[in-house]
Amino acid sequence: MTPNVLNKKLTIIAGPCAAESQEQIISCAKELKKKGIRIMRASLWKPRTRPGFEGVGTKGIPWLAEATNLGMTVATEILLPEQLTQLIKGISKIGDLNKVLLWIGSRNQNHLIQREIAKIIKEKMPKTVKLLIKNQAWVDERHWLGIVDHILGSGISPKRLILCHRGFSSQGQNNPDNFRNLPDFEMAMRVKEKTGLPMMIDPSHIGGTVENVFKVMEMAVNFNFDGIMIEVHPKPIEAKSDAKQQITFKELNSLLKTI
Ligand code: PEP
Ligand code: MN
Repeated sequence: MTPNVLNKKLTIIAGPCAAESQEQIISCAKELKKKGIRIMRASLWKPRTRPGFEGVGTKGIPWLAEATNLGMTVATEILLPEQLTQLIKGISKIGDLNKVLLWIGSRNQNHLIQREIAKIIKEKMPKTVKLLIKNQAWVDERHWLGIVDHILGSGISPKRLILCHRGFSSQGQNNPDNFRNLPDFEMAMRVKEKTGLPMMIDPSHIGGTVENVFKVMEMAVNFNFDGIMIEVHPKPIEAKSDAKQQITFKELNSLLKTI
């Protein structure tokens, strides 16, 4: 029988899709801290399907730094090596560089850039800083495994890597639940096994709607995931990106009771 995640301690990363204001970041940090969640996600730079809100960029670095001073580990997506250099500079100035988690998103599939980001983490950041790797958007197990190999090519220790399943493009696929991206839980488990790395699940980008986020979690508890990355927003309808899938803090409470 597949081990159920209910039996063990999960890592929880929660927070808004994107950093939008200082007030939003600090209030999220405080809310999460109250729940005992110590890792907050918030993207500063956003890859977008069509041009639109691309994140607040460097302006938000001091907000994240402030959250580290509240005891939160801040998680953010890095698209380019220069962004990481700016982040390192800004967080070290007023915050705690030990309390940072970075991720490479599904759309960032240039292995030279992936490797360069990992190299900067290895050479310029404290050993506590880890790199989370999301799967690419299209279904291809070999490519997913390849990202890990490319990143390991930087010399970064595998102990600093975490994987995250965010589903695969649902275009043209049979999709009865109308998920934004289709999960392949079995593949995620195989990749976890083959790489020996922890595997998290992102129900937000798989589900695409609040109702589906809950549905994905219900399905995911039957697999051996090591943690969850979930989008939470103080006022989801006002969110500048991914408004339909971000849950409220109250909904987060109910969701956490189901796992
Ligand atoms: C995100 O986590 O906000 C994101 C853009 O995810 P993905 O790379 O999985 O699309
Ligand atoms: Mn998002």
